[in-house]
Amino acid sequence: LLSADGELTGTVFEEMSRLAARTGAINLGQGFPDVDGPQEMLGAAAAALHGGGNQYSPVAGLPLLQEAVAEHQRRFYGIDLDPGSGVVVTVGASEGLAASLLAFLRPGDEVVVFEPHYDLYGAVAEFAGARLVTVPLEPPRFAPDLDRLAAAFGPRTRMVILNDPHNPTGTVFDDAVRARVAALAAEHDCVVVTDEVYEHLRYAGGHRPLAALPEAFERTLTVSSVGKSFSATGWRVGWVSGPAHLVGPVRATKAYLTHSAATPLQIGAATALGLPGGFFEQLTEDFRRRRDVLVRGLAAAGAEPFEPQGTFFVVADVRRLCERHGVEDAEHLAPVLAERAGVVGVPVPALASAAHRGLYASWMRFSFGKRLDVLERAGRQLAG
Ligand code: PMP
Ligand code: GLN
Repeated sequence: LLSADGELTGTVFEEMSRLAARTGAINLGQGFPDVDGPQEMLGAAAAALHGGGNQYSPVAGLPLLQEAVAEHQRRFYGIDLDPGSGVVVTVGASEGLAASLLAFLRPGDEVVVFEPHYDLYGAVAEFAGARLVTVPLEPPRFAPDLDRLAAAFGPRTRMVILNDPHNPTGTVFDDAVRARVAALAAEHDCVVVTDEVYEHLRYAGGHRPLAALPEAFERTLTVSSVGKSFSATGWRVGWVSGPAHLVGPVRATKAYLTHSAATPLQIGAATALGLPGGFFEQLTEDFRRRRDVLVRGLAAAGAEPFEPQGTFFVVADVRRLCERHGVEDAEHLAPVLAERAGVVGVPVPALASAAHRGLYASWMRFSFGKRLDVLERAGRQLAG
């Protein structure tokens, strides 16, 4: 993330979106849906916008949304939160994660996380003078190695981040992994930050937050947002929840980052979180269908996709596409696919540490957060 001369480089997601814009290619790189979220949510935000809801909200968020988050966590996961002291509304999950890391990390601290991983974790850890200690999920199955996870903890470990469902691999973690993370965090007295922005995009049974483990709640911050669950990545509304003694420092930090999130959109978000169960079931069903189309399209094009159990991403071994196009790896394939096949994906090595990048050299991530006809066309174009 820091170039050789110490400058912060741009994110791979904006780079890939620029590549798609320049070449006119289908953008399966940066993950965002190409449809609008539920009408009820849009209507509530529009009414607030025209109804005088246009000034600052409290730093911790509108009480209406704090309550909606607490109620959502109770309804889906049986987690009991105090809405006032246990929920802080943030500018997307991004700010929720940034404030969580900045609140607890100090120079020299270490953060344990599986890789490949969402790029923000490393950048913000660096802002705090801390560093990531990464544990690779190895292709082609991306199963977590719990012994390697345990070995990554040491005297400087202050935090562990678990992103479940996992971007980019689409892995969902099981009870054994959650229990082990909780036990290691307790043993090393560290804070757990869970990034659950894909909580409602799960294809084999419901999501189970780590904070739902009774022994884990007191040391866990849970982060999510409206972006993926309600197809509103541009709204930039998210939240962090957990015990008051952890949420308090996050709120204090967030006050000096952005003060508060967009007021009318918080009203829309509160409506969205309260939608009936049928909305969430339909969402999962729609994404499952899209997943199946993209997985089939990639396989027909000669890639070897790993079928994801969550998120809206598929990672695929694109070795044969590299051969067909005469390039050595996924990072060289990305611009070539944009030009020749009109499809943009993200090379997985861009989301891995220098030490482990080689493991993912032939892997690319494609998003299926797109309409079915777009995904079908992408598959045909990749098959060439
Ligand atoms: N975490 C993960 C794993 C993500 O993929 C993303 C991007 N969608 C974020 C956090 C940031 O979410 P938001 O857009 O709500 O800031
Ligand atoms: N979360 C999205 C992804 O992984 C992109 C978010 C971003 O552009 N920062 O593609």
